[in-house]
Amino acid sequence: MSALDPLSDEQREIRGLVRALARERVAPRAAEIDASGEFPWDIVELLRENDLFGVMFDEEYGGIGASALMTLVSVEELSTVCATSGLILATQELGSLGIKLAGTPEQKERFLPRLASGEWLAAYALTEPGSGSDSAAMRTTARRDGDEYVLDGGKRFITNAGVASVYVVFAKTDPELGHDGISAFVVEADAPGFQVGRIEPKLGIKGSTTGELFFDGCRIPASNLLGAEGEGFKLAMRILDRSRPGIAAQAVGLAQGATDYAVEYAKTRVTMGKPIGEHQLIAGMLADMATGCETARNLLYKVGRMIDEGVDGSELTRLSAMAKLYCSDVAMRVTTDAVQVLGGYGYMKEYPVERMLRDAKITQIYEGTNQIQRLVIARELLKAHDA
Ligand SMILES: Cc1cc2nc3c(=O)[nH]c(=O)nc-3n(C[C@H](O)[C@H](O)[C@H](O)COP(=O)(O)OP(=O)(O)OC[C@H]3O[C@@H](n4cnc5c(N)ncnc54)[C@H](O)[C@@H]3O)c2cc1C
Repeated sequence: MSALDPLSDEQREIRGLVRALARERVAPRAAEIDASGEFPWDIVELLRENDLFGVMFDEEYGGIGASALMTLVSVEELSTVCATSGLILATQELGSLGIKLAGTPEQKERFLPRLASGEWLAAYALTEPGSGSDSAAMRTTARRDGDEYVLDGGKRFITNAGVASVYVVFAKTDPELGHDGISAFVVEADAPGFQVGRIEPKLGIKGSTTGELFFDGCRIPASNLLGAEGEGFKLAMRILDRSRPGIAAQAVGLAQGATDYAVEYAKTRVTMGKPIGEHQLIAGMLADMATGCETARNLLYKVGRMIDEGVDGSELTRLSAMAKLYCSDVAMRVTTDAVQVLGGYGYMKEYPVERMLRDAKITQIYEGTNQIQRLVIARELLKAHDA
C-alpha cells in the first residue's frame, strides 16, 4: 500500500487480473454488445471462470472473501472498456445484498453459493410504473396464505429481468401503511405466477436487460421472506447504501476509459501544424477530465474501505450517496468532453466515446436519481447537525 496506490499487494494482483481480462477479452466485445443489444452470456462465463463473482462473497459461501473495495475495483476495471459488463458484477452485488444482510443461515445456504459461483444471476426489484423515486407508493402486494405468500402486481425497469434466477422483490404486506407496510422476498424465476414482460430498448448499457416483472397470484414459500414483515423498506435502503458505490464504480470506469481514449487521440490528431493535445483549449479539457477521474476514484475507494471496515448508518448513507452523485456527474461531463476532443469522429459509432457517453447517462438515474442523492445527502447532513 502507498500514498499513490491505496491497494495492498494482493488487491493490486486482483486488479491486474481484472484489468488484463477487461483489455484482452472484454474490450473486443464491447462495440458488438452495444450494437446487438443482446445480453452477453459469454462475458458472464468469463467472469465465472475467473471467480470474479466470488469477490463479493464470504469464503463460507464459496466466495473468495467478500471485499466491497475489490468489488468496486472490479466493476471499475470492466467498465473502463464496457459498462454493460461492469454492470453484470454491480447487479450481482445489488441483487445478493438483501440475502447477505437479512437472510437466515438457511436462506444464505440455499442461495449464496450459487450466486458466488455466478451459476445464478440476481436482480433487485423495487421500481414500479407509479413508484420510482417514491417507493412507498408501490402497489405490488404480498398476502400470507398458510405456509406461502401470494404476490400480485408488477415491477418495471428491472436490471437482469429474464436472465436472473433469483429476484429480491419488495411488496406491501400491509397496503394501508406507507414505508412500514413493505416487506422483502426472494422470488425464484420458476415460481408459479411469475412472468417476465417486455424488455426495454434503451439509450445505453444496451446489453443489459431492463424489463417488466409480473406477479399474478405468484406463490412462494413463506420461508422466502427476508427479515421480518414490514422491514422491507429499511432493507431496501440498507442495500442501496452498499450498492450505489457500484454505480459510482461503473461511472469512474467510464470516465477513465473515455479519458484514456481522448488522451491517445489528442497525441496523434494534428491540426494547424501540431497535435491537438498541444492546443491549450484541448489540453485544459484533458487536464480537467483526468482530475475528475482521480478525485472521483478517491471518493469511491474511501466508501469501499468504509464498507469493508463495517461503517454503517448515517455516515455510510451520506458518503455512498456522495460517491454515486459525484462519480456519475464526472462520468457524464468527462464522456461528453471526450466526444468533443475527437470532434466529428467522436460522434461516429466507429469510435467508442459516443457509446461511453450514452452509457454514462444512466449512472445519474438508476439506484436513485442524482436529485434524490442530493436530498439524501442534505437530509443526513441536517440530521447530523441537529444531533
Ligand atoms: C436502465 C435502468 C435500469 C434500472 N434498474 C433497476 C433495477 O434493477 N431495480 C429497480 O428497482 N429499479 C431499477 N431502475 C429504476 C430506477 O431506479 C428509477 O427509474 C429511478 O429511481 C427514477 O424513478 P422514475 O423513473 O420513476 O422517475 P421519477 O421518480 O418519476 O422522477 C422523475 C424526475 O423527477 C425527479 N424527482 C422525483 N422526485 C423528486 C423529489 N422529491 N425532489 C426532486 N426531484 C425529484 C427525479 O430526479 C427525475 O428527474 C432502472 C432504471 C433504468 C432506466
